[in-house]
Amino acid sequence: MGYKKASFIENIAEKIGLIPNLHKEKYQEFDGDMRHFTDEEVAQLYENFPPPEKWDDWQEYNPKVWPKKEKITYQIVPTTCFNCESACGLTAFIDKETQEVKKFEGNPYHPGSRGRNCAKGPATINQITDPDRILFPLKRKGKRGEGEWERITWDEALDTIASRIRKAIKEDRHNEIAYHVGRPGHEKFMNWILQGWGIDGHNSHTNICSSGARFGYNIWYGYDRPSPDHTNAKFILLISAHLESGHYFNPHAQRIIEGKMKGAKLATMDPRLSNTASMSDYWMPTYPGTEAAVLLAMALIILEEGLYNREYLENWTNWKEYLKALHSDKEVIFDNYIDAMIEEYKEFTPEYAEKESGVKAETVVEIARLIGEAGERFASHNWRAAGASNLGGWGVARCLHFLSVLTGAVGAKGGTSPNSWNKFSPTQPNPPKPQKKWNELHFPKEYPLAFFEMSQLLPHFLKEGRGKMDVYFSRVFNPVWTYPDGFTWMEMFLDESKFGLHTALTPIWSETAFYADFVLPMGLASERHDINSYATHGGTWVAFRQPVLREAARRNGNEVEFTYQANPGEVWEEDEFWIELSWRIDPDGSMGIRKHFESPYRPGEKIKIGEYYQYLFERVPGLPKAAKDEGITELEYMQKYGSFEIEKGESYKKNETLLTDDQLNGSEVDPVTDVIRKNGKSIGVMINNKAMVGFPTPSRKNEFYSQTMVDWKWPEYAIPQYLKSHIHNDNLDKSKGEYVLVPTFRLPTLIHSRSGNAKWLVEISNRNPIWMHPDDAAKWGFKTGDLVKMNTDIGYFIDKVWVTQGMKPGVVACSHHIGRWRRPQDKIGNRWATNTVNIEGDGKGGWKMNTISGVKPFESDDKDSKRIFWKDGGVHQNITHAVHPDPISGMHCWHQRVRIEKPAAGEKYGDIFVDTNKSHKVYKEWLAMTRPAPGPNGERRPLWFKRAFTPDKSTFYIDKKDE
Ligand code: SF4
Repeated sequence: MGYKKASFIENIAEKIGLIPNLHKEKYQEFDGDMRHFTDEEVAQLYENFPPPEKWDDWQEYNPKVWPKKEKITYQIVPTTCFNCESACGLTAFIDKETQEVKKFEGNPYHPGSRGRNCAKGPATINQITDPDRILFPLKRKGKRGEGEWERITWDEALDTIASRIRKAIKEDRHNEIAYHVGRPGHEKFMNWILQGWGIDGHNSHTNICSSGARFGYNIWYGYDRPSPDHTNAKFILLISAHLESGHYFNPHAQRIIEGKMKGAKLATMDPRLSNTASMSDYWMPTYPGTEAAVLLAMALIILEEGLYNREYLENWTNWKEYLKALHSDKEVIFDNYIDAMIEEYKEFTPEYAEKESGVKAETVVEIARLIGEAGERFASHNWRAAGASNLGGWGVARCLHFLSVLTGAVGAKGGTSPNSWNKFSPTQPNPPKPQKKWNELHFPKEYPLAFFEMSQLLPHFLKEGRGKMDVYFSRVFNPVWTYPDGFTWMEMFLDESKFGLHTALTPIWSETAFYADFVLPMGLASERHDINSYATHGGTWVAFRQPVLREAARRNGNEVEFTYQANPGEVWEEDEFWIELSWRIDPDGSMGIRKHFESPYRPGEKIKIGEYYQYLFERVPGLPKAAKDEGITELEYMQKYGSFEIEKGESYKKNETLLTDDQLNGSEVDPVTDVIRKNGKSIGVMINNKAMVGFPTPSRKNEFYSQTMVDWKWPEYAIPQYLKSHIHNDNLDKSKGEYVLVPTFRLPTLIHSRSGNAKWLVEISNRNPIWMHPDDAAKWGFKTGDLVKMNTDIGYFIDKVWVTQGMKPGVVACSHHIGRWRRPQDKIGNRWATNTVNIEGDGKGGWKMNTISGVKPFESDDKDSKRIFWKDGGVHQNITHAVHPDPISGMHCWHQRVRIEKPAAGEKYGDIFVDTNKSHKVYKEWLAMTRPAPGPNGERRPLWFKRAFTPDKSTFYIDKKDE
């Protein structure tokens, strides 16, 4: 079982305690307790970390003056990282004398990250000390986009924005107000604010990120995200570059390695030899978009060889409904279900999978058997990557979950649970009711099943006159650069009849902030309040992101009223900003807005930020007792430790939770489906004569057969299917030099569009060449460093080639998150990473960008800025991509059909051209693939589907006159 003898060096290292004893008895065996790191052992690993009782007075030698021995006394204040979603624990080391943050380390008391961070966590120190950061509120001078700014007060910004919002709401123009978020991170806070205003005003980045996979999971079991229990798994399958893409990067990585150290096998599907693939036992470089074919081949092997979990399939899938709907000639008995599935998928032989994907048939068979053998201990994950790249990419997650269903791994120890089982959701004071508005600029009729807002289409909707944005907030959100088709965003931002007032809430300059009216500096990880809880493993925790200098001031008896009074410059946080704004929209309370933001402890008065969090933390299970035991309040507990473990990770199979007598009182059981209903709502299902809560789907089970897909006009996808991608080999003309470009991976040291103010990260990763296999390079006559012209459907970009065996032949790839730019007229910002570019529009939709100069050393208070040795800032590729919204999930399908050629004479590295007329045409082509609402009963969306910021139920029905 993979047990390895200790080497000589390991033996010594283990004996002297340099590394944990990995070779103790049963340590690597699956039969014993799978969690081999006890809490005490984890604590031992961090025994050198200062204990919390010393966090107010901790002395260390200053490493910068070594060999001189000079002590610094620190205050240590916990917070959480903001550089990806995981919210790993950080501790800020604050020089007690100067009250400056000197460094960040991990927080061993954080249950998700357990003291560890990736490179991006400690790099927070770069971000807060970046010489180019924005320190004060700014208002544009001159025309939008001209690059001129003046400093203003917070009061001026708040009053101007508030009066414009007040006017829009009073004139019933609620749908002209929107908050568009890139990096979220404060659980439910904006629901409280926007629903408090009564608007359907939330827009997100999710449809360029993860909604493909979310849809695939949701259609099965009503949850949209997986939470794999890697530590306890026996076999792990990742369909993604997800570790590189930064999603749960460190918390998952450490648990995958723990699983592997105990003998778990790891397989990765990725056309690129990512870091994760390189650590895997099996690398399956699938042709992009064919992953579902491989998964269905594995499913067929599991079915044919009887490796499935019969009890789970019988109890927890809606097989009777399936047989009745699609095989009405067959008797409704379980064996007919298995036979019918084998028949459905008979074409998915290992050889077919090999033909489609390029993965060898014997590998497909071997892995299928290992998954079958792992049974419930099969952990898997699909995020971004295939789910976010292909027409029908949602089908990849659906087929992956199929394997979890077949093995009974759904919600099992070592398997894959729904993420909501491992996540805390806060309760807020004075909660507003759901809004009675439905904003079709976010959820249009054409995409009734879209899992999140059709945010990538917003500029096209504005362009064709579907509406306008009178007050628009971009919050840590940079669509001009991050999104496909950035020039169309730019065109719309330059038109004030489309975007009325654009406020950029951002910690740093961005390509989108250049086109704002207000640029309001928002806090980085250590400068803001947020509550975090994420499904990093089979446990549940809550963490507190807090402004560390404010907390240090509080401990020192110097409390401030607003966070910007403790932060650098006048950098604020959003929580206080939104509360202030809400009060100014409704100063006398007559609009019914203000009441939501009154103190729960001091009726009629404005809520203070401490009160908000005290109210939330009082309602965290177990926290009141833990705080009481220490004689402090719940808020003080979180200010002290930064996190709290709600549940350790032994609650699996929550679908089997029995309904209580109270819950069952007044309920009825459907005699056909066994679904238990009360007051018209399904609340559970009878399983073997027991009333269990089940899953939040119509059948309360995993839906192998989806009546929802049938009802919403997609009967061909009633069961898990392999959908051929828009970049399937059949759709490419190789004779014309057409290839598939994989643009969805990120180098693990980068942060979407916020690496540009983190010098250590940019030093490590600063170029994004085209990855190309030697066979392809030879065919074209390319060698590393040669220029290549990548023609997309709407334009081109010119990059350099990197010849590498780490790329699947016939496929090319380019990392996103590099290729940052600023124009000569822009405020200096992100100089560690930005090229200076010239942008020219011809006024008819043609846009050119070329590089004037690359990255250069510069003078600043940071001596490192003169030591910059890299010159190449990469190339902005996303701006040359057209929008490709999947007609079902709404996910942008990132993979690009590109035509590769050598640049013409005079064409230079970094040259970009785009025709936005073509991009609008491509938008229309993809729009034509949709099958619009209404669905059954005039619904605009299935009632059982979740929706971000769910509005009042009445809004889910389309008025006859609007159809
Ligand atoms: S994985 Fe890295 S970037 Fe993400 S929260 Fe953790 S330390 Fe920060």
